[in-house]
Parts: sequence; C-alpha cells; structure tokens
Amino acid sequence: MAFRVFNSMSGKKEDFKPADPTNVRVYNCGPTVYNYNHIGNFRSYMSIDLLRRSLLFFGYGVEQTTNITDVEDKIIANAAKQGKKIQDFTEPYIKIFLEDISYLGIQEVEHRPRATTSIPAMIDLMKRLEEHGHLYTQDGDVYFRLRSFEDYGKLSHISPEQLKVAAGGRFTADEYSKEDIRDFALWKKQETPDEPAWDSPWGKGRPGWHLECSAMIREIYGEGGVDIHAGGIDLLFPHHENEIAQSCCAYRGENFARYWVHNEHLLVDGKKMSKSVGNYFTLRDFSEKDKLELLIKEGRAPADLLKLHEKQKMQRALRYLLLSTHYRSRLNFTFENLRSSDAAIERIQTCLDKLLLQTPLSDEVKTRFKKGKLETADSIFKETVFAEAMAAFRTALEDDLNIARALAAVFDAVSAVNAGKLTESICKEGVLFFYAVNQIIDVLEFTNPESREVVAQDLGDLESFVVSKIEERLKARAEKNWKRSDEIRDELKAKGILLKDSAQGTTWEKA
Ligand code: AMP
Ligand code: ZN
Repeated sequence: MAFRVFNSMSGKKEDFKPADPTNVRVYNCGPTVYNYNHIGNFRSYMSIDLLRRSLLFFGYGVEQTTNITDVEDKIIANAAKQGKKIQDFTEPYIKIFLEDISYLGIQEVEHRPRATTSIPAMIDLMKRLEEHGHLYTQDGDVYFRLRSFEDYGKLSHISPEQLKVAAGGRFTADEYSKEDIRDFALWKKQETPDEPAWDSPWGKGRPGWHLECSAMIREIYGEGGVDIHAGGIDLLFPHHENEIAQSCCAYRGENFARYWVHNEHLLVDGKKMSKSVGNYFTLRDFSEKDKLELLIKEGRAPADLLKLHEKQKMQRALRYLLLSTHYRSRLNFTFENLRSSDAAIERIQTCLDKLLLQTPLSDEVKTRFKKGKLETADSIFKETVFAEAMAAFRTALEDDLNIARALAAVFDAVSAVNAGKLTESICKEGVLFFYAVNQIIDVLEFTNPESREVVAQDLGDLESFVVSKIEERLKARAEKNWKRSDEIRDELKAKGILLKDSAQGTTWEKA
C-alpha cells in the first residue's frame, strides 16, 4: 500500500500523489509571536512533524515552510504597551518558539519566512487581485470582495448564507467598514504615526493576517503551489478559505494546494485549550523545573510530576503525549496521560536496553538511514516478529498517519521479545527495528544502558561510587594484581567513566 491522506477538501482519504516525489512541498501556518505558545499549539506542530518524518521514512524528499506572523494587532498593542518597536518585542518570542520546537524534537524546516520580510510579495499579490477586480478600498483600508469569487466555501462547505451568520470570531478582528460583512481585510491603513507601517500603492499600512500565507507560498514555491497545506482545524475557516480565495483569484487557474491536512485540538476538561479561555499550559510550564514547581505550589499540578524532571524524562513524556493520538482525533490533556506516556516509553526502552547490552548500536545500523529513510527493503528482517511488526508499523503510518496503530505494532514486538529467547539475531535485528521506529517517535536512547544508569545518578552518589572503585584498584595494584586493576578500569569505562593515572594519583572524568 502507498501513503493515503485525509484531504479536508474532499472529506476523504486519498492516494497521495505529489507533483514531485523527490521534493514534496509542504506549508503549514505558524505562530503569531506575542506570547509563549501553549501545548495545544505544539500538538499542531507535532502533527505536522509526524507527517514530515513519515514522508521521509517512506522515501520522499520534503521541502517545508512554516511562517512566523510577526506583525498583527495583538503584537502591535502589546509592543506599544511596553514602549517597544515590534521587532524588539517579537524577537524574544521567536527565540522562545524555536527553542521550544527544538526541545520537543520537532525537525527544522527548510523555510521560515517572517511576515515583515515578505511585504513586497504581499503587495504583488494585491496588485494582481486589483487587476482582476477582486479588491476595493474603503476609508483607506483594502478589502477582498468575496462575492467576486464563486468557489468561496468549497473547503469548509459553508454556504454564502451561513457565512453571513458565521462572520464573527476571528473575522471581526479584520473588520472595519466594508461593502459586505463577509469581506476580509487585505491591508489596514496606518492609524497613528507610531504604528508600524509600510508603503503600498494603497497608502501606508500593514497587511491583513490571511494575506501572508498566500503571498509566501507564491514567493517560495512559485506557480506550482504546494502539495500539502496543513494547520489546526480552527484555521480551516475562515483563514484557509480566505487563502484559497486570494491565491486562486490572483493567480488564475494555477494550482495552490492539493491536499488540505488539519489536526484536531488538544482539550482540557473537554474544552479546546486556548489563550482566550485561559485553560492552557505553556510548554515551559512543564519543560522548566522552576515553572512546574510554581504550578505545583499554586495547586495546578500534582507534585509527583517533578519526578519526571529528576529522571530527565519530562521531554520524552511530553513528546510522546502530543504524538501518540491520531492527529484527527481530539486529545484530552491530563496529568495521568503524561505519566502513562512516560510508562509507555519506559516499557519500550527496557526491552531495547536488554538488546543493547548484548548488541550495542553499530555504525552499520546508523548508515542504513539517510535523512530518516529506511534505506534497505523491509525484508532485511529475517526474524518473523520484526518483519511483521515493521510491516504493520509502516502500513499504519501509510493509512493517514495512524500512529496509535503503529505504536500497537511496536508493543507487539516488545511483548514478543520479552517472551522469547534473546538470540544473537533477535538482538541484532531488534536494535535495527527500534532504531527504525525511532526515526518517527524519537524518544528512545541507544547509548550503553549501564553508563546511562551511572550518569543519571546524582553527582554525590557517582562520586562515592567511583572513589570506592579507585581505592579498590589502588589496593589491587599494591598487590601487583594487574588483571583486577585492568578489570576495574574497563568496568568504569563501560559506564562512561575514564580514569587517568599520574604521579599525583588517579583522577576520573565522564566520557
Ligand atoms: P495560533 O497562534 O492561535 O494561530 O495557533 C497556532 C497553531 O496552533 C494553529 O495551527 C492552530 O490551529 C493550532 N492550535 C491552537 N490551539 C490548539 C489546540 N488547543 N490544539 C491543537 N492545535 C491548536
Ligand atoms: Zn495560513
């Protein structure tokens, strides 16, 4: 079977046929940088990262773009409150966003354009819209004339009548005075001299939010558009509908986006996690120990979660939690879910560690993967347990990224390994199998399990443990028992501790 993906445009799973399999073009709407992102936002970026990693795993090449909205009403208002230029206000939040993305193991994308550096592309697009009669100005603001685009509503399946009712919410932020309530702003005039503004044929002002994605896709990918356009389900309407309207009207008859992929929300107590409701946790609330301690003090999180920090397991638990539910299903965030995520990874890791103790990760295994793709055919697994599990893992991902089913296949392999004998080929193929799976889940460790244990101990314990070993070795040497002395050195080396002998005595360091 080949990759099938649910296309919001048709409302069906479709065979995935990119224009160029060596370079699949993916665009997803990125963050507005005026605050910390909450873990619901990261569910969206994690879903798209799963899509990206799976495409690479299947052997496609990927060229992905995620924009950064660095000019927008909330940014302007907050920057003004703090007496800052918008660039100085947004820069720290961009940095925080990129750090958070990297903390979660979300892969770096090929393009990360910012709204403020794509203004010429937006003005070009507006000129095309003007030529074809799709825009008008009113009181210095510029609007898209919605009734000039017949196909409006084909993604969201919302009729023009429903649209008049639906024209609230995010729509109102763009609303000034317009011909029709449904029309949305392309360009907003500068109201006061200290408001950030750019020159345009329609006067000094700033772009509307919807405009930037259409313009960037054109700027980066040209006439071919993108194979996949992705984002959270709340962006489907009106944002993505407006993107389609702008792009199709400006560049007539050209492809814009072929597959529309939308992730469902992360919920808290059955409600969408969102900044406006206030029912949110930022990633940093968990990823930073002192922020978690504060939450616990306020009674907003249970104290036992600190253990995840002590064991350095918070990162993998958060990643697994956001990853392991199918992207089109809603996911309720609970602390229990965070704990069970940790337990699930521990179960896989414990099994993998048994294999690693006998067969350490080799360079040969690493080189089988180039950019995340399993280089050799699946038939490399001679052991039935891994051959079957690998086939099931892959088939599940090919079926609209069914990660829950893919993980079930991994747990089947874990159970089989635990129940059977650890032969040489089970160990060898097992390490390869988990290494392959980790190209997608990226929560497993492949270092020597024994050295990991020692390094994870706190420094006090480690210190006294190593010192006692050094003393034992000194005694062996005094007795000219060179064999025992070498054994102790090797034993410590296997745990990642290196000894150095000198005239002053023996010192140690972590490898
Ligand atoms: P925003 O900064 O609100 O535009 O959101 C950035 C991305 O996160 C968009 O793709 C949203 O659809 C997505 N998003 C916002 N809230 C949630 C949530 N609770 N669960 C999943 N995705 C979300
Ligand atoms: Zn967008």
